Amino acid sequence: MTKQKVAIIGAGIVGASAAYILSKEPHIDLTVYDEGTGQGTSAAAGIISPWLSKRRNKKWYNMVKEGAAFYPDFLNSVMDGESVPSSVYKRVGTLLFKHKDKQLKELFDIGLKRRIHAPEIGELAILSPQEIKELVPIYTKNKSALYASGGARVDGEKLVDLLLKKAVSNGARLIREQVKLERNNHAYAISYGSKKDSADTVILAAAAWLPKLLEPLGYSVDVRPQKGQLVEVALNGYETEDWPVIMPEGERDIIPFEGGSVVIGATHENDKGFDLEIEKETLSAMIKEASHSFSDHFSSSSITSYRSGTRAYTSDFAPFMGEVPELENVYAASGLGSTGLTAGPLVGKCLSELVLNRKTSLPLEDYPINQYVKKTR
Ligand SMILES: Cc1cc2nc3c(=O)[nH]c(=O)nc-3n(C[C@H](O)[C@H](O)[C@H](O)COP(=O)(O)OP(=O)(O)OC[C@H]3O[C@@H](n4cnc5c(N)ncnc54)[C@H](O)[C@@H]3O)c2cc1C
Repeated sequence: MTKQKVAIIGAGIVGASAAYILSKEPHIDLTVYDEGTGQGTSAAAGIISPWLSKRRNKKWYNMVKEGAAFYPDFLNSVMDGESVPSSVYKRVGTLLFKHKDKQLKELFDIGLKRRIHAPEIGELAILSPQEIKELVPIYTKNKSALYASGGARVDGEKLVDLLLKKAVSNGARLIREQVKLERNNHAYAISYGSKKDSADTVILAAAAWLPKLLEPLGYSVDVRPQKGQLVEVALNGYETEDWPVIMPEGERDIIPFEGGSVVIGATHENDKGFDLEIEKETLSAMIKEASHSFSDHFSSSSITSYRSGTRAYTSDFAPFMGEVPELENVYAASGLGSTGLTAGPLVGKCLSELVLNRKTSLPLEDYPINQYVKKTR
């Protein structure tokens, strides 16, 4: 049997999820290319809690709602009967803060309505400062918060490693190189260094770097990079594994992982291009904010690591996916912005469904690629 040669360029959460799914198909010969510098997925904070956003874009909401709902089933299939390591993914709940109690009540009502179509939100309750302290003993403020038990945290880097390991053990090849895409008669050439591979079908899961791949082929791509920096601190002496994700008012979230490790972030920097430089003052400012919004304990916590990565945004903040116009059998997705870790596995599944010629799990007409990727020459 001649196998269908499929190439995936980019192995963040989207490409790695597609790789895992396609690696199980016996008729596919799969190669995954990933350079990795600045990858959004491995820099991400790890919040999976899209339901209480006030953003009004219904198509985006449907993508992230379905994306969050897909996680448990997807991970169970990846783990093949074994339990999902809690260092990779855990449903710990979310605590959401607002300046005014009235806003919390409004959000609570929105949550109740949305739960009808998204039961994964789980239990909803407005918790008093004392009740918050019972969940997270370091809480030192005096505000109430909305709690949703279905919120989860995920370590993007560990999840991608897991997916790629499974894909490779299923027979996929993984090449850690930056590649170029070219047309090659009726197929495609993927080149890196002095090497050139061929493919019948290509998935471009290159996020913020999609313009760099497609512009040489005569395309204009409406995707821009946004820099995000995060800091990780140690809260020695606390067992943080089951603490909920904490979302204070504003952009700085607090994501407890295991062993006293807590991630704080992130920045949303639109004027830095692909810059990845870490600014020590920015990290200190984020810790200060966490200490101001949630707990004085952060002011005495020590920094254990930091990271920075690149998000991909379209000019109207909407994500897209589908077949690249005039490039038969080349499929792409991008523009997942600040919720791509939530949507990523499901978007990867949709791209693999396109390769397999199956109906996609999300309606493609809601995320039209030709609005953002245009052939100009
Ligand atoms: C600081 C930060 C915090 C975030 N927090 C959250 C969060 O809490 N929740 C959430 O849902 N989302 C979050 N996000 C957003 C989320 O991380 C991204 O939207 C998502 O990871 C994008 O996944 P992706 O697979 O599309 O792209 P990426 O993860 O960016 O992967 C793209 C990959 O393609 C590779 N690539 C590109 N071009 C080439 C080429 N020519 N050759 C080889 N390889 C190539 C890159 O090297 C990269 O590895 C955050 C993002 C950042 C930066």
